[in-house]
Amino acid sequence: MAGENGRPYDEAGLVAYQDACPGCGERSQDLLIWIDSDRVECQTCKGTYQPRQEVDDGID
Ligand SMILES: [Zn+2]
Repeated sequence: MAGENGRPYDEAGLVAYQDACPGCGERSQDLLIWIDSDRVECQTCKGTYQPRQEVDDGID
């Protein structure tokens, strides 16, 4: 994994909201595959993105 200290959504099998796929909103870890050190490929929409680029405090 990426060495983040604490991934609070791990136990639910979902990534944090800010890490969800920007294309389709997928949050399942099983469907979000790291393809290199900082990019994830969404298996739902086949899009790639970089998680944690923009953290919006307003997201709930
Ligand atoms: Zn997606």
